[in-house]
Amino acid sequence: MAQPSSPENHSLPECLACGTCCFSQLPEYVRVSGDDYARLGESAESLVVFHGNRAFMRMHEARASGATVGHCAALRVDPQAATFACTVYGERPQTCRDLERGSSACDGERATKGERPLLAAAALTAHTRERSR
Ligand code: SF4
Ligand code: SF4
Repeated sequence: MAQPSSPENHSLPECLACGTCCFSQLPEYVRVSGDDYARLGESAESLVVFHGNRAFMRMHEARASGATVGHCAALRVDPQAATFACTVYGERPQTCRDLERGSSACDGERATKGERPLLAAAALTAHTRERSR
């Protein structure tokens, strides 16, 4: 996920209002290298999982409208503010750094998975309502 800004492309959302590239159903989605692990510092232990000798960002699953929506565990979904913020933005893995906002990869993410952040936000809202009953 890249930082905002590309005023010439008005259809492009701000990353904070998008978060789409942080969503996946795959348990092995964001690879974490040794350098990435070191950069994550104290967050690494809770956010990184090992599959064999390979490390990945831990994934979180939410149930929404009968479907499961997965996203990186470092993503904070705030339905009220309609934001999708990376909680380790400054220390995020290289894979995330390489995905530039407004790039063809970013376009592809939004074209294929654009509804998932909205589903996750809806699931969180429903969960919060359920708990307050
Ligand atoms: S898909 Fe593109 S606009 Fe959306 S969060 Fe990722 S880099 Fe930002
Ligand atoms: S580390 Fe941050 S930018 Fe990378 S997938 Fe997770 S939430 Fe998204």
